[in-house]
Amino acid sequence: MTVDIHESVLRWVLDSLPADGRAHEPQVDPGPEHPDIEARMQESLEQNRGRILKLLASVLLTATLAGLRAALDYWNAELGTHAQTPETWVQDMRHWAENRARRLFATVEQALREAVDQMVERLKENGVLRNQILEQVNKFLSQSETINASANRVGMENDSDATYAAFLYANQELGAPGKCWITAQDHRVCIACQQNQWAGWIPIDVLFPSGHDRPPAHPRCRCAARYHGVTRKALVSL
Ligand SMILES: [Zn+2]
Ligand SMILES: [Zn+2]
Repeated sequence: MTVDIHESVLRWVLDSLPADGRAHEPQVDPGPEHPDIEARMQESLEQNRGRILKLLASVLLTATLAGLRAALDYWNAELGTHAQTPETWVQDMRHWAENRARRLFATVEQALREAVDQMVERLKENGVLRNQILEQVNKFLSQSETINASANRVGMENDSDATYAAFLYANQELGAPGKCWITAQDHRVCIACQQNQWAGWIPIDVLFPSGHDRPPAHPRCRCAARYHGVTRKALVSL
C-alpha cells in the first residue's frame, strides 16, 4: 500500500514536468482550482440552480413561519387572544425567503466547493491517482444528494436569522413601537451584543448600536429580541 502511494505521488510530479524536462514547482494539487473540476462544478451549479433556490427557500420559509408563530404565541398568551397567522404574512415571508435564497446562492457554491475540497484531500491522502480523482468528483457532483446537502447546510446555517427576521416583521405588523436586545448575560457575550443590550428599549425601526435591526449579530450569536406595546386590538383585527 505504501509503495502505491509513493508511486502515485511520483507520477504526479513527473506529469507536472514541462516537455523540455526543466523542473518547476510540482503541481500535484488537483483541488477545485483545477480547471476540469471548476468547470464541472459550475456546470453542476447551473444545472441545479432552480432546485437549489427552491430547497433553500423552503428551509428559510419554514424558519420564518416559526418566527411568525412565536410572535403570535407570545402576544396571544400575553393578551388572552387567539390570533392566527394571516395569509398576507405568509406571502410576505415567501417573498422574503425567495429573495434571501437568491442572495445565498454564492454561499451554497462555497459549501459545495468545501465538500469537493474535502473529498479531493481525502482521495489524495489515500494515494488515488489524479484522473481517478476527477472521475470520482464527477460522480460526486452528479449525485443529487451532493447538491441537496450543500443547500440544506446553508439553509440550516441561516434558519435562526430567518426566524428572527419574521419575529421582527410580525411585531412590526402588530404595531409594536419598541424593541430591546437580550444577550445570554454571561462572560461569553461579545462587546457588540453587550452594547446592543445596553441601548435598552429603542424604537422598532431604529438600528441597534451594532447596525443590526435584530439578532443575530453574527454566526453563533445567542441573543434574542423583545418587543413591547402590542395591543389586544391589533391582534383581534388580524
Ligand atoms: Zn455577539
Ligand atoms: Zn449576540
